[in-house]
Amino acid sequence: MYVNRIPLVSTHTLACPSCGKPVYLAHSDRSEVPGGGAWLRDGDTVGGLYQMLSDAQRNPSAFHYELMVGGCRSCGEDYYVTLISLMDAAYEDVEAYLSFNKALGPERNFLCAMQAPTDGVPSQWLLHEYSTQSGLMHHHVFGPWALKDSEGVIGINGVSSCGVGVTAAAWVHARNLLHAAWDALRELRLNTSAQPTAE
Ligand SMILES: [Zn+2]
Repeated sequence: MYVNRIPLVSTHTLACPSCGKPVYLAHSDRSEVPGGGAWLRDGDTVGGLYQMLSDAQRNPSAFHYELMVGGCRSCGEDYYVTLISLMDAAYEDVEAYLSFNKALGPERNFLCAMQAPTDGVPSQWLLHEYSTQSGLMHHHVFGPWALKDSEGVIGINGVSSCGVGVTAAAWVHARNLLHAAWDALRELRLNTSAQPTAE
């Protein structure tokens, strides 16, 4: 089970699943939100996934995954994405990178696909690769999909997978996707070497 990836040479657009207007643009070495600002507003760790992983899949554990929700500025409808960040290091050493709380360094962007179609994994998704001072960070972006039913996804405290959330469609979708792609995503990260960066 492998991931094929192709460097972006032209702009790749992520479109609103409800109206088709662009909500996020990835270029070969940068990305942007049309009109500026953020395209995602809130998120939470995907509950229940960790319990599905074997010890071998959990360790080493430099990963961070979540479901995030955003709203389309054109039509006002909400959408959600599934995100996972991966590094090859001790979690404590790279936590700030994984959660985007530290400058990530140069960015290169790719389109990914499973070498063989895999149940639960989209046919294509976006990969940001950042050259951090602690090695490469892979940040995969799956989606966006329309958030047709926000019950169990958006509660009074925002996006949360607690309580009924574990059974809501969007969480089940995100959990199954990450579980199905898990080994391939980790292998891709381990088999990718840092590019020499120009000083
Ligand atoms: Zn829209």
